[in-house]
Amino acid sequence: MSDTLFTKIINREIPADIVYEDDLCLAFKDINPQAPLHILVIPKKPIAMISNATNDDENLLGHLFLKAGDIAKDQGYGEAYRLVVNNGEDAGQTVFHLHIHIIAGRSLKWPPG
Ligand code: 5GP
Repeated sequence: MSDTLFTKIINREIPADIVYEDDLCLAFKDINPQAPLHILVIPKKPIAMISNATNDDENLLGHLFLKAGDIAKDQGYGEAYRLVVNNGEDAGQTVFHLHIHIIAGRSLKWPPG
């Protein structure tokens, strides 16, 4: 996988408002927030999209989702939040480094557009 701007954020080559980091993942505020809380949780491992993940990534993917829940809670939105993973251009993916959107702080419609 070639470097994306999210790799540059991991490497501190471009700035981001980082809210959480550990050995496996990084979480930072989305530059174009769609709700009062909009954070992206990314693996440090460069996986382009969820459909490229393998069985070897099972623990990593669990870690990302558990941390996303912890971060929503830490940010004060533990009661209601949405986790979104866009896979592929037609699903709205624009950055090809796997990421979980944490969106919260307003009433969210279903189904999404
Ligand atoms: P996608 O559309 O791939 O699911 O989500 C990509 C997200 O990355 C978008 O919500 C977009 O606003 C966000 N994004 C794009 N470039 C940057 C950036 O340079 N910094 C940050 N913090 N977020 C970005």
